[in-house]
Amino acid sequence: MSQSKIDLDDFMSDLKDRTPHEDAFHQAVSEVVPDLLPLINDNEDYRTAGLLHRLTEPDRVISFRVEWRDDDNIVQVNRGHRVQFNSAIGPYKGGLRFHPTVDLSMLKFLGFEQTFKNALTGLPMGGGKGGADFDPSGRSDAEIMRFCQSFMLELYRHIGPDVDVPAGDINVGAREIGWLFGAYKRIRNQFEGVLTGKGLSYGGSAMRTEATGYGVVQFLGHVLDHKDDSIEDKTIVISGAGNVATYAAELAVERGGKVVTLSDSGGYIHDEEGLTQEKIDWVRDHKAKSGTSLEAYADEFDATWHSDEAPWGVTCEIALPCATQNELDADGVKALIDNGCIALIEGANMPTTSEGKKVVADSDLLFAPGKAANAGGVAVSGLEISQNKMRRDLSRDELADELQTIMKDIHDKCADAGTDGDKVDYAKGANVAGFKKVADAMMAQGVF
Ligand code: GLU
Repeated sequence: MSQSKIDLDDFMSDLKDRTPHEDAFHQAVSEVVPDLLPLINDNEDYRTAGLLHRLTEPDRVISFRVEWRDDDNIVQVNRGHRVQFNSAIGPYKGGLRFHPTVDLSMLKFLGFEQTFKNALTGLPMGGGKGGADFDPSGRSDAEIMRFCQSFMLELYRHIGPDVDVPAGDINVGAREIGWLFGAYKRIRNQFEGVLTGKGLSYGGSAMRTEATGYGVVQFLGHVLDHKDDSIEDKTIVISGAGNVATYAAELAVERGGKVVTLSDSGGYIHDEEGLTQEKIDWVRDHKAKSGTSLEAYADEFDATWHSDEAPWGVTCEIALPCATQNELDADGVKALIDNGCIALIEGANMPTTSEGKKVVADSDLLFAPGKAANAGGVAVSGLEISQNKMRRDLSRDELADELQTIMKDIHDKCADAGTDGDKVDYAKGANVAGFKKVADAMMAQGVF
């Protein structure tokens, strides 16, 4: 008997019934499924194989208690998770996020997105995501290290270089990856590429730190080039002040763009003169001191600080939201368009709200989703996995070339799958191109 065609509203209401209170996950799915339904409804085999249902249900969700001692010797308890979303095209791969807002809905949305993103890189990586509701702000280095060790004491049994290879994400950088790796090695007594984003001296990849932000700007360059335009002399608004934001700023400045904002959870700085390499280095040093606000930038340089505000009202031609999910709402998108913005390229994962995306859809704004534009980070992670397997490191130049090639390839795949007349819908292109690879692998591997 053939499976009937799928209706979007019925599918979403069924998903919501099955997974109540998972708003971020529903949002991510609801933004992808409309682009896939024409393909699925045209293919009876896909429907009979329950492909859409399987694609939106993680393979496995692991949750565990993380207990650790704070500096006063008091035991603290957090909840850790790993969502192993889809391994059709390779071992699970995706970052770990430590943030008080982390919950299963957030990790399911991120793991779902990661599945498409990783497929777009062309490298053999499935999708996963993990983390904990641990808030490292205000915690000492020793406390964060103990937390990482305790987190790994549970996680280690679920990961491995051919099983699941986590990396960093918000609040998990090279330092935390080092502590997590040290704990894994101590528990398993195996030196293997079980994490990416490692330090250079123990199997890490040159370029990993820069890769996400650089890749965002490379993707932007291709989007503009497709329109016979370039980054040069464009005014650029960036949110965030972490790795993605600062390395995006660095490459944008190198390519002749004028970056006028960065932000953190307390507000944004507006530097009309534009950021320079020296100012970006200052931001990195400053943010490395835990608990510091960007506000000090305004005293250090000739800039203004805007407390509790996002930078979307600042006049610009290009906007790169590089902070976190749902940071750019409909009013923000309207303000960008009204002030002459021509391109919105997502550096963070799902930074534009669903309402914001509706405003984008009714406009001529060039839009690229995070799953395509920020894939440079996980792409270099994928190269780190290969290097670890070969026990041979690629040089920085080789990795930089690979990153450029991969970002161009992702752009072209999205443009091919997303072109309709003279308009390119990069979001649709990313969804369709990512889906085709994963769907093909899932269909080939049968149903249990
Ligand atoms: N957290 C990054 C992302 O969202 C990188 C993941 C990885 O390198 O595995 O893609």
